[in-house]
Amino acid sequence: MTQITRRTFVGVSAATIGTALIARVIHAQEIVSNDNATAVAMGYVADHTTVDTAKWTKKAAPGGENQKCTSCSIYQRLDDDYGLCPIFVGKRVHANGWCNGWVA
Ligand code: SF4
Repeated sequence: MTQITRRTFVGVSAATIGTALIARVIHAQEIVSNDNATAVAMGYVADHTTVDTAKWTKKAAPGGENQKCTSCSIYQRLDDDYGLCPIFVGKRVHANGWCNGWVA
């Protein structure tokens, strides 16, 4: 039978609480809106199917229909709906979003 020492219990508990607090802080972050100044400059939209491809021609290129935040190499998934992007520091982007910074 495995025995858990008090030190191990306290250590694991502290790590668990720390992880939960970090997750709460991340989820409390503001969601990028389409009218955010950086979003406007980068052509960010929360729904990649609504990109103005006449203006943002990268999205109109072959395979462009597959360009969205979840297929972008700098996207950091938080959950099914949101993730982090280094272009929008301190904010969350939509999983189905897109901007001109999309990287294969
Ligand atoms: S750079 Fe990538 S992850 Fe960031 S908003 Fe644009 S498409 Fe989404």
